[in-house]
Amino acid sequence: MKILVPVKRVIDYNVKVRVKSDGSGVETANVKMSMNPFDEIAVEEAIRLKEAGTAEEVVAISIGPDKAQETLRTALAMGADRAILVKTDEIVEPLSVAKILKAVVDEESPKLVVLGKQAIDDDANQTGQMLAALLGWGQGTFANEVKIEGEKAEITREVDGGLQTVSLDLPAIVTTDLRLNEPRYASLPNIMKAKKKPLDTKTPDDYGVDVAARLKVLKTEEPPERSAGEILENVDQLVDKLKNKEGVL
Ligand code: AMP
Repeated sequence: MKILVPVKRVIDYNVKVRVKSDGSGVETANVKMSMNPFDEIAVEEAIRLKEAGTAEEVVAISIGPDKAQETLRTALAMGADRAILVKTDEIVEPLSVAKILKAVVDEESPKLVVLGKQAIDDDANQTGQMLAALLGWGQGTFANEVKIEGEKAEITREVDGGLQTVSLDLPAIVTTDLRLNEPRYASLPNIMKAKKKPLDTKTPDDYGVDVAARLKVLKTEEPPERSAGEILENVDQLVDKLKNKEGVL
């Protein structure tokens, strides 16, 4: 079984994101970029399936600028076998990503596509669902556990207030939630080995997909500043404040 894992290059989750002064978006120049954290979980899950003998090949794919090669090399260093970069300098919206992934799935015929549940830059949470719709495949979103048995996948999903288990026929789409696994760090020898693994470069045109934006960002704003906290001397002061100043008691 082949597994396809789409990985997106995003602003590193530790970076404090700054809005551009004209409000047209967020500052990305000279900002540390990394693999989307949910996609690291997706790569880890795919590699574990390979290590368990369930999968034979893990293919990582990224749609983005030349620099997204670094993200793919990280996936290769973690254990993916080969990578595909679909090169574009445009901001590619989830529908266009899903259309490109559909074309790649048609070419590669994976049994499973494991995506992150959402990219932490656009917070769209759309690509996996759109890809499932375009392919007409079943989807197990927000996966907390993935079990493959024969031609079926059993996916335990994180839902409000609990867990839900669904059974899907393969091929299928899975999107990862935070508690699915803890991604490994790539070791230095594996980082070196990853440099020699195959990485193909394509363009959206190769797949006949027009990536022009359908949405226009009207403005981007910083969240309101939080007001400073206050240290009180004792419980009486706290009760007085809650009762007489804040009006919550
Ligand atoms: P989103 O729908 O944008 O929140 O993204 C959900 C998931 O789709 C991500 O976690 C990735 O697995 C995948 N994805 C989105 N955009 C890209 C991209 N440009 N390249 C590769 N994978 C992507």
